[in-house]
Amino acid sequence: MAEKILDVRCDLKDQEKALTGARVIQEGGVVIFPTETVYGIGADVENNNACKKIYAIKGRQPDNPLIVHVADLDQAENYACTNRVRMFRELAKLWPGPLTIVMPKKDRVGDVPSAGLGTVGIRIPDCDFTREFIKLSATGIAAPSANMSGRPSATRAEHIINELHGVDLIYRGEPSRIGIESTVIYPQDDRCIILRPGAYTADDFSKMFDHVEYAGPQDPVRSPGMKYRHYSPEKELLRAKKEDLLNFVETHRDIIPIVTTETAKEIKGEKWILGSIKNPYEISSSLYDLLRQLDASKYHRGIIECLPETGFFISVMNRIKKASAEL
Ligand code: AMP
Ligand code: MG
Repeated sequence: MAEKILDVRCDLKDQEKALTGARVIQEGGVVIFPTETVYGIGADVENNNACKKIYAIKGRQPDNPLIVHVADLDQAENYACTNRVRMFRELAKLWPGPLTIVMPKKDRVGDVPSAGLGTVGIRIPDCDFTREFIKLSATGIAAPSANMSGRPSATRAEHIINELHGVDLIYRGEPSRIGIESTVIYPQDDRCIILRPGAYTADDFSKMFDHVEYAGPQDPVRSPGMKYRHYSPEKELLRAKKEDLLNFVETHRDIIPIVTTETAKEIKGEKWILGSIKNPYEISSSLYDLLRQLDASKYHRGIIECLPETGFFISVMNRIKKASAEL
C-alpha cells in the first residue's frame, strides 16, 4: 500500500494531524517529517524493531547511529546524561535549532538507534508542527535524513515520494529553510569538538568554550556517519572557483553551471542559480534540490561554484566538497 501523505505547515500546531503521526510512532511505524534543516525519517527511539525499519528503508549501515529528536528539555533528560556536560545549559539555549549535541546516553535509547555506542546525539528541531508531533508521540524520535544512503538529503517532500519505500506516513511541509543537516558537536569540559559543520559554526561555540576544533578525518571521536559517501548526485559534478568555472563553461557546452546569482550574470548560456552570495540560506536551501535536478536533467554533468570558506559557507562547502570533484 502507498504511504499516506498529510500536508502540514511548520508554524501551525495542527493537533489532529500531529496525532495521526503520533499513533503511527506508538505502533512501531515510520514517519517522514519536515524540519528547518532537512526532512527526517523517524521511529520510536525506544523500539529497536521500529528503528531497524529506518536502516532497511534507507540502506543505512548499522554502525551509523541515529539522532534523537525531542520536543523539549524534559524529553532530552530521558535519553541523555545532560548533567555530565558542563556547558549543557548554555548550549541548550540554541534549541530549538540546527544543533545536535552528543552526550553520554541513558538506557532508554535502544541499541539499534545508538549503533552500540555509549553516547547519543540529541536535537530539538525548530518546527512547531514537528515538535507537537514528537510531544504527542510521548517518546523520542530517532531520525536520520530522509534519503537513500549516499544521496543528497531531502529538502522538499517531493524528493522523498519516489525515493523511499515502506514508510507509513509522510508529512508534506514547506521546503527546508536551512537545507543542510544540523551541526553535530561533542562537548567535553572546556573543549567543543565539531563532528559535522552546519548552520552553527565555530564562532558560535567559541563564546562558550576555551577550545573549539573540527574533528579531523582520523579522529576517533568522529561521527561514524562521516566516513560514508554522502550527498552525491549520480551524475558527474565538478567544482571550481568563479574564474576557472567561467573559463571552463566557455569551452565546454555539455556541462550545466550551478552558480551564485552574481556569477550567473556573467554566463550567456543556460545556468542554474543557487542564490545570492549575500543570502547564505538561499544558497544552502537550494543546494540539494539542484543536485537532485542534475540527476533528473538532460545534462550528463554539472559544475558548481566554490563559495568563500568563511562562516556558514564553511559548512555549505563541506557538503559541496563531498558531492563533487575538483576541476
Ligand atoms: P543523518 O544521517 O543525516 O541524520 O546524520 C547523522 C549524523 O550524526 C551521522 O554522521 C552520525 O554518525 C552522527 N551521529 C549520530 N549520533 C551520534 C553519536 N552518538 N556520536 C557521534 N555521531 C553521531
Ligand atoms: Mg544523512
